[in-house]
Amino acid sequence: MRLIRLRDPAILDAPNDVVELLAKGNAPMVTKAPETKIVDKFRISCDGGEGGHPRVWLQIPNEHGWVECPYCDCKMIHKDFEGKV
Ligand SMILES: [Zn+2]
Repeated sequence: MRLIRLRDPAILDAPNDVVELLAKGNAPMVTKAPETKIVDKFRISCDGGEGGHPRVWLQIPNEHGWVECPYCDCKMIHKDFEGKV
């Protein structure tokens, strides 16, 4: 039980670190909004572009017309759904 108690504060510390990093990133001109891409296929690949991630294939569900890359949070919107999502 002691181990778990020791671990808990460590877990709680992590979000604080992230908040600090985000606060620094908020300095002028840094806007890290996830990218949005308009695509014309329902099956697309994403590799995150420069300094990206392993290529993954994503399937856009027909019902809402967009999918988010699990790696880089890039939002792929099918062109038929552009402006509707
Ligand atoms: Zn991606």
